[in-house]
Amino acid sequence: MKSIRIFTPATVANLSCGFDVLGCCLDTVGDEMLISLTSEPGIRITKIEGADLPMETDKNVAGVAVQALLLDYKKDLGVTIEIYKKIKAGSGIGSSAASSAGAVWAVNHLLGNPYTPQELVKFAMEGEKLASGNAHADNVAPALLGGFTLVRSYNPLDVIKLHSPKDLVMTVIHPQIEVKTSDSRSVIKHNVSLQQAIHQWGNVGGLVAGLFTEDYNLIGRSLEDVIIEPLRSILIPEFKNVKNAAIEKGALGCGISGSGPSIFALSKGLKIATDVAEAIRVVYAKTGLEFDIHISQINSNGVKIIEEIQ
Ligand code: ADP
Repeated sequence: MKSIRIFTPATVANLSCGFDVLGCCLDTVGDEMLISLTSEPGIRITKIEGADLPMETDKNVAGVAVQALLLDYKKDLGVTIEIYKKIKAGSGIGSSAASSAGAVWAVNHLLGNPYTPQELVKFAMEGEKLASGNAHADNVAPALLGGFTLVRSYNPLDVIKLHSPKDLVMTVIHPQIEVKTSDSRSVIKHNVSLQQAIHQWGNVGGLVAGLFTEDYNLIGRSLEDVIIEPLRSILIPEFKNVKNAAIEKGALGCGISGSGPSIFALSKGLKIATDVAEAIRVVYAKTGLEFDIHISQINSNGVKIIEEIQ
């Protein structure tokens, strides 16, 4: 039996302008998993700590993602999965993606890496399909590839790793309220005007260019969402005040993380990111709601090995 203990990261999807296509990987927030190859065929989830999630393989995103990999690998292997959850489900920072991406990354590693990280994305997406009904890749791609990623196309799948300027730091506030994924999807309009589309794809291009040229001002100008944020932000208490406070303290930009309720602010340097955290803490303290705040550099590697056990 071969086992591996991994850190599998939280991720921030959409990044304002890139709904369903952009995402980035965090470094200080994530789950741990212990994955083993066993001689007895079949996938088993043997332990889950830190969250109340299904142990059945076909109801847990980790099991479903590994199942998709093994179906393609065409060998009757045995896999056991232990999940140590630190990312709260439904937080909007890729809780389900961390499990899907971590599980397939670990199995691939134990098999001697038959698949590239890009190829693993499609297996992990099967887990996302179970969690939200939609096989999106904007959380699993950055978890698997690290840094910032762009899903250039879903059909055929074309995932591109972007450059991560080293001074970027994320501040994320997770208000402990439930925003149902179905609600946050239902407020979105399915048609956009040409004017909105022009605005939005200009920003996506600007953000990608800003990342590659390390132009922090351009990154900031491009962190703007004229399509989803005006509709979804209504579901998040104090969104406008958090955003104003973050920008006032010098954040480059601020928006909804994934489908919320978490809010991210991207800053240049740890000092500004820490000041932003303090300012948004003050805003949220007045609401009486429980919340967590995370500060994290960008994790340019994605999933990391904690320990290999032979
Ligand atoms: P987030 O918004 O943090 O990305 P999601 O809404 O994508 O979280 O996923 C949470 C949903 O996925 C919940 O309904 C949860 O029960 C389900 N789920 C199934 N397996 C897992 C898992 N291993 N980790 C997290 N969520 C899981």
